[in-house]
Amino acid sequence: MNQYLIVSKVDRLEEHLELANEYGVGFEVNDFFIPAVLDDEKQQQEIINQYLNAGMPKGSTLHGAFFDVTVFSSDEKIRETSKLRMKQSMEIARQLGSCGVVFHVNSNPFLSGEPYDTSVVEQTVLYVEELLQEYSGISIYLENMFETEPHLLVRISEKLMQYENYGVCLDYAHASISNTPIQEWVEALAPYVKHIHINDNNLHQDLHLALGEGRIDWKLFLEYVETYFQDCSILIETTLPENQRKSLEYLQQKQYEKAEQAGKVFLREPQPEEMLEKIFYYMNRMVDEKGFASTIVLLTDMGRTLANSERASFWYWDVRKKQYWTLAALGRDRIIVPEGSGIVGASIQNNEIILINNPYADARFNSQIDKESGFVTKSILCIPVTDTKGEVIGAFQAINKLDENGESDFNERDVKRLTMAAVHCGKALESYLLYHETQVDQLTGLKNRRGFYEYYSDYIQPHLQKQKASAIICDIDFFKKVNDTYGHNGGDAVLAQIASILQTSVGEAGEAVRWGGEEFVLLLLDYDLEQAAKLAEQIRQTIEQSVCPYEGREIKVTMSFGVKEIDAACSAERNIEQADEKLYEAKATGRNRVVF
Ligand code: GH3
Ligand code: MG
Ligand code: MG
Repeated sequence: MNQYLIVSKVDRLEEHLELANEYGVGFEVNDFFIPAVLDDEKQQQEIINQYLNAGMPKGSTLHGAFFDVTVFSSDEKIRETSKLRMKQSMEIARQLGSCGVVFHVNSNPFLSGEPYDTSVVEQTVLYVEELLQEYSGISIYLENMFETEPHLLVRISEKLMQYENYGVCLDYAHASISNTPIQEWVEALAPYVKHIHINDNNLHQDLHLALGEGRIDWKLFLEYVETYFQDCSILIETTLPENQRKSLEYLQQKQYEKAEQAGKVFLREPQPEEMLEKIFYYMNRMVDEKGFASTIVLLTDMGRTLANSERASFWYWDVRKKQYWTLAALGRDRIIVPEGSGIVGASIQNNEIILINNPYADARFNSQIDKESGFVTKSILCIPVTDTKGEVIGAFQAINKLDENGESDFNERDVKRLTMAAVHCGKALESYLLYHETQVDQLTGLKNRRGFYEYYSDYIQPHLQKQKASAIICDIDFFKKVNDTYGHNGGDAVLAQIASILQTSVGEAGEAVRWGGEEFVLLLLDYDLEQAAKLAEQIRQTIEQSVCPYEGREIKVTMSFGVKEIDAACSAERNIEQADEKLYEAKATGRNRVVF
């Protein structure tokens, strides 16, 4: 969804980054319109550095200062302060590498009328022009805020349009609560709009709700985007990551429904040129798509279109959990089914293409789901998805081949076409899995050292200014003896069990890592030394009391623990080294104990 942006704030930066990655969206940074921040250079620089260290997503913008910013004020002191605030915003944008900055027009609708309007237009144009020239590499977007109709923005824009870096930011939510119909806003400003703000509301108040939770018609909005705003960046203007995720999912669903409706008009077998056009359409969109989730949705939709089918889903085989689940199921929520079940199961287990045009007569077909949902499955085409070694990692399934009568049979040509989509899905999935695999230890399923460093820098380091955190390092006592007595496989069974105990004990508080051989590290956010030591002691007792069943025998082990509160001034390595010194002490003073 590379056209879209989300609001970012440093306090939940890692969550915003995760969403940006997943959906391939950019940021509109919202930390710098606050006067206190603009007056505190040290804090400003710290926030800028945090962004630069984390890496700004491509195409990111900045929300400029806006509180009472009125460059057209008749009070010279207010004018000067307003100009200073805008200039500060531009400087910050330059340091962040933002491609655009948003400012509100901020005219007061109660004062509207000549000569107030003329003064607003002239003074705004005069100063914005200065900034447009000085910062020619950064776009400036003027946003409708309190205005009840678009005419002021039109007048300003006519004068500034000659600047390539000028554009209007249409705040679709503000426009929706004004008493001018939304269509008038859209049509009047369309020639100037380059950036859009969206969020939902009740059509009366500026509520900044997640999309879908208010009364704005988003289907209509997407139509406007298609007609007028294809090249505009669009900010989902809600602040909380959970609402951002909701909004992104909602938009994706609406986009899909729209495509589906467009596709339904077109039921006959597409001609070769039409087919080629469709492939180009998807390929072009894919080029800009970086997020894994949205790439998969796009590929799945391509498969659905190419095989001219009603539904399509892309299934991932989670070998560890012995389940299949849908990475993308167009027209449905995520579905999880146990390994081996249904048509998908048969296709994955036997690495075979399954084409069924009469599913209710096929024993492998589970008709229960149709019975519950009321959906009628008429034809199924399921293609296993393999990695580069040829091993099955998932499956691509298309359901109900469509034609003029609304139903038809899949044929060999559909197999060929769907295989093409399946190959691309396989590639996208494999590279995603490979990346994750490098971070996870195969035997225990815990993060390995590489995963540790990424976790530390993403989830621990950024919180250390405000929150405490602790590290526990622990090591199995006399583990060599376990190997000697029960063999290497017995040792492995113990490692897996210990890992599972550690993982459960840490829960949501942090992360358990296999540090090496029989040594583990636990990272705990919001734990001071005393709390961490208490948890270590609980884990020590749990392990002492548990047994690991192995080939009819029971293996018992104990563990030694070193605990250290993390020092924000030291590196991750240094902190673990210090915890390790405590572990050494625990070993030297008799093992099966916690030292802190
Ligand atoms: P101590 O109480 O001092 O920690 O004694 P120890 O025997 O546990 O420590 P030592 O470091 O001497 O031995 C660790 C052993 O762990 C040696 C190594 O063969 C074994 N080991 C390391 N990784 C694995 C593994 O993945 N599986 C199995 N089965 N054993 C492993
Ligand atoms: Mg806005
Ligand atoms: Mg040991």
